[in-house]
Amino acid sequence: MTDKSQIHLLDDPTSLKSWLKNNGQPAFRAGQVQKWLMEGRAEDFEAMTNLPAALRNELAENFAIWTSTIAKHTVADDGTEKLLVALADGGRIECVLLRDGDRRTICISSQVGCAMGCVFCASGLDGVDRNLTTGEIIEQMLKLQRLLPADERLSHIVVMGMGEPLANVDNLMAALETASDSDGLGISPRRITISTVGLPTAMDKLTRSNPRYHLAVSLHAPNDRLRNQLVPVNNKIGIDKILAAADRYFDMSGRRLTFEYVLLGGINDSIEHARELAGKLKGRPALLNVIPYNPVVGLPYSTPSQGVIRAFREELEKANITIKFRKRKGDKINAACGQLRRSTPPAISIELPTSKSQPASD
Ligand code: SF4
Repeated sequence: MTDKSQIHLLDDPTSLKSWLKNNGQPAFRAGQVQKWLMEGRAEDFEAMTNLPAALRNELAENFAIWTSTIAKHTVADDGTEKLLVALADGGRIECVLLRDGDRRTICISSQVGCAMGCVFCASGLDGVDRNLTTGEIIEQMLKLQRLLPADERLSHIVVMGMGEPLANVDNLMAALETASDSDGLGISPRRITISTVGLPTAMDKLTRSNPRYHLAVSLHAPNDRLRNQLVPVNNKIGIDKILAAADRYFDMSGRRLTFEYVLLGGINDSIEHARELAGKLKGRPALLNVIPYNPVVGLPYSTPSQGVIRAFREELEKANITIKFRKRKGDKINAACGQLRRSTPPAISIELPTSKSQPASD
């Protein structure tokens, strides 16, 4: 944990380089420190045994590696692990490690709470407190990587835990640079998915800056009338503007888009909804990722029946929409889509990427 005079090392990788220079230390020490951290082999400077002891002491005085602690660690029978992370200011967030064959996917949070107000989601129940810092986002990645045995590495990242990632686009982009850098975690940008409710201005910023990541847009409704009710932020935006921004991202990145659709029993799961959705997506190089709702304690929504899910799927397949239904993982430890809370959670479940990189909630 930090004291006020310490610099959070993970928040600004350049700070260590400047400090080394100003203190007459060779620049290669920064690379050594980075390697210890990214390979998950050192908990503190003391453990970095290829650094001189005096330097280790000085670094420990001036820099904090960790600003958060693990408040709770939950493991499910299917190998899914969830961390409740306590931030330095008392905020709580969650992040998840999912195992699926050779894949080691993590789902991370981008904000404390969420301001988007999706009616079926636990994460936004209490609004948003603040954005996570770049360092706090990277800490989630490193804490989850440290759960793996020495011969395993993280393979995929989905940014779809608590918060709207594109409402914190600058800090997130800096953290993903470290995730994808060969001197960082070395995860290919193609295996990193940013899941958004659809904020066109931030989507365009992403398009202009670095369209290397996979983008998943959560629609949840095929028309503005219904989406305004389910995703209140839509009142100020509208589906067509979001689709246009998604198209611009595709034009620049060449990465096939994913559209997410949480299927809510009796709300957005009819044949008419499927037809309307097909009309919106037709002709777009996109995957539709459908997530049967994970019930949240205290919210009045339900999972559709198997028959309704099948009929919804068949209608979209008839229209030649590429569609995938997400596998459920982590339900038993409440680690699924749209159910993370910023306080100690009653129930969460995280939906896991299947083939490409499918996020849970955004
Ligand atoms: S579904 Fe995503 S965008 Fe909507 S409230 Fe939950 S975390 Fe926020």
